[in-house]
Amino acid sequence: MKGGTTSKSLGICRHCRVEEAEIRLNYARLNLCGKCFVKFVERKVARTINEYHMIEKHDRILVAISGGKDSAALLHLIRRIMPDTEVICLHIDLGIKGFSDVCRQKAEELVKYENVELTIVSLEDFLGYRLDELTSRRRRICSLCGLMRRYILNYYGLAYGVTKIATGHNLDDAVAILWDFYIRGDLLEALKFQPVTKLIHPKAIPRIKPLIELTDFELKIYADIKSLPYTLTQCSFGRESKLNRRKKLVESIELMYPAFKHTFLKSHVKRVSPLLSGLTSRSINWKSCSRCGMPSRGDVCSVCRIKKSLKKRG
Ligand code: AMP
Ligand code: ZN
Repeated sequence: MKGGTTSKSLGICRHCRVEEAEIRLNYARLNLCGKCFVKFVERKVARTINEYHMIEKHDRILVAISGGKDSAALLHLIRRIMPDTEVICLHIDLGIKGFSDVCRQKAEELVKYENVELTIVSLEDFLGYRLDELTSRRRRICSLCGLMRRYILNYYGLAYGVTKIATGHNLDDAVAILWDFYIRGDLLEALKFQPVTKLIHPKAIPRIKPLIELTDFELKIYADIKSLPYTLTQCSFGRESKLNRRKKLVESIELMYPAFKHTFLKSHVKRVSPLLSGLTSRSINWKSCSRCGMPSRGDVCSVCRIKKSLKKRG
């Protein structure tokens, strides 16, 4: 994981000017001690939450817990920054041999550590199949998984009456995802990827990404300093995924062009999106799925179509 270094020989912390710096953030050319780094991360997330009006007083938040470092940091940060906000944690057991068991265990350890409740939903209960079982039947397993996760989070969010869904997407995720949309010229999809998603349908709960301005590196260090339970294990399908290859490519650009990722995201959110936003309302006409009532572009939503095709083939 690049983006910075940890070392005992970085000189004095640039913020407190007392302690030895142990963390180097390349993009900001900043050397910080552990304590100042924690404050730096917390201030940054608080600023992101305020800037995009992500969480308001009345909000009840569903926090999507994957078992990884980002959602562990997400839960911890929301509880520190907004201690009065009600949070509900949900973990989806995708049913990927080995990987899902580790993730589930870490999600359980995390909520114990944070002293909050966790709901666990399994894809098998929801769809009738573990993700493992679908690999031979469906080609694009990662996009199927993403689609199912979004649907399940929204479904339970509605059942629990939450007003927002928070995910742990970070800056590296954001740039890698956006990169593909831009390269393909899929600007409408790019436009949908925002720090806060718009209310497009009464049954689509707005999704927030409070960690979108923090890097993989920063979140790993934060989770380690705070001793949060998490796993770095990657799922067997995702390890070699296009998204991971894209992340490596973006990281190599960042080496030559410091703060590339921050600049990319800022341009997307502040410059390109406002220019394009007039287009979406005309182009996507959201309906309600005739089977489940969830937001859909066609008469039947993608998840209901998948359910039907899985039943048909038996
Ligand atoms: P990923 O697409 O794996 O990078 O995950 C992005 C975010 O989606 C995570 O930070 C979590 O907030 C959420 N997420 C991913 N996997 C799960 C899961 N199995 N259960 C609940 N939330 C998840
Ligand atoms: Zn549906």
